[in-house]
Amino acid sequence: MSTESSTFDVVDVIRTKRDRGRLDDAAIDWVVDAYTRGVVADEQMSALAMAILLNGMDRAEIARWTAAMVASGERLDFSGLRRDGRPLPTVDKHSTGGVGDKITLPLGPLVAAFGVAVPQLSGRGLGHTGGTLDKLEAIPGWRAGMTNDALLAQLRDVGAVVAAAGSGLAPADAKLYALRDVTGTVEAIPLIASSIMSKKIAEGTGALVLDVKVGSGAFMKTVDDARELARTMVDLGADAGVSTVALLTDMSTPLGRTAGNALEVAEAVEVLAGGGPADVVELTLALAREMLDAAGRPDADPAAALADGRAMDVWRRMIAGQGGDPDAPLPVAAETETVLASATGTLTRLDALAVGVAAWRLGAGRARKEDPVQAGAGVTLHARPGDPVTAGQPLLTLHTDTPEAFGRAREALADAVDVAPDGATVAGAGTTGVDRSIVLERVARP
Ligand code: URA
Repeated sequence: MSTESSTFDVVDVIRTKRDRGRLDDAAIDWVVDAYTRGVVADEQMSALAMAILLNGMDRAEIARWTAAMVASGERLDFSGLRRDGRPLPTVDKHSTGGVGDKITLPLGPLVAAFGVAVPQLSGRGLGHTGGTLDKLEAIPGWRAGMTNDALLAQLRDVGAVVAAAGSGLAPADAKLYALRDVTGTVEAIPLIASSIMSKKIAEGTGALVLDVKVGSGAFMKTVDDARELARTMVDLGADAGVSTVALLTDMSTPLGRTAGNALEVAEAVEVLAGGGPADVVELTLALAREMLDAAGRPDADPAAALADGRAMDVWRRMIAGQGGDPDAPLPVAAETETVLASATGTLTRLDALAVGVAAWRLGAGRARKEDPVQAGAGVTLHARPGDPVTAGQPLLTLHTDTPEAFGRAREALADAVDVAPDGATVAGAGTTGVDRSIVLERVARP
């Protein structure tokens, strides 16, 4: 740690937040910058992050904290993008993370099919939630790394890009997020909101649609917390000139019928071919409509572009543009095992977190940033909440290259399933009940 002199004492900054005070702009600018440069030590920032988790921040503090993280690195600028001499609007989508959440894969090409540029700078998965880059890396040849010039060229020529966010964007967040991960300070709304929005503001998108997940498989377990996170991020976006709306969506059960990298790519391709599970299609279309609206195309009909192959054409060009072969067979895990239904009736709960942890233990996810993932590992669902099931029928298939993982995956699933006997009144399952729409609420600035 450096011993540079400064007008601030980090211990005073920590004490202010510990004692429920507010941090002024200069203190926030200083502490974020000093931490990024190694002048404030990890243990000091951990104490401050814990004080923020316990005592919160007001809107002005969160906005300043976000701006300080944006200022810690470079900012991309898409404002000069043109196609056929006309400005190309940009709009991105960010999900707060869930199980089986493959929506980015069909969504980017779908929106780009209407002449809108979709720059999706994504990350890899950590813990039970999958990462978009891990999913796409299951496609033989596909590469996440791109220079800024290549990214701009693909946006202009194809319209959709999914690429690794470079280390130059909001480096303060990269350092702070890694620290929060190991100090029990991830679940603080001011810190989550500033972390996500600093990266999106630095990325330079013109508009942003947020998919804020609610339920057992999400950071936010209740609709109230998810709404507060959504409102905070919508305000941060609007204040930074990025038109931002959020949808609160159900994550009490996995999205679609797959959790795992290659398994999810195959399901996304089904959606692009005009099929796929109803909930994945519903959410893809809901987010696409918001994105097209934000890009000035409220008249566009995304369902038609899934049905007639326009979205699939963009997908194929997007994958090929990044070295991937859209026709190559996807990797398949070496071993499978089946989990059977233990009772007859209606499936009322299939817990998202349990399925996410099982997929992770099977090898689809990683525990540390540098761990490899298995492309073919994961879980296939043969029934979803609301479906009738018969005792002894296959409920889940587990996929892995490392069969010693089956036992721990089954342990994760031990309490994951509820079946109501025939004739019983079926109460709601998970957060939203079995019959409700996957989109729970829309949050926008009035
Ligand atoms: N995703 C992020 O990028 N940051 C958080 O703090 C939580 C989720």
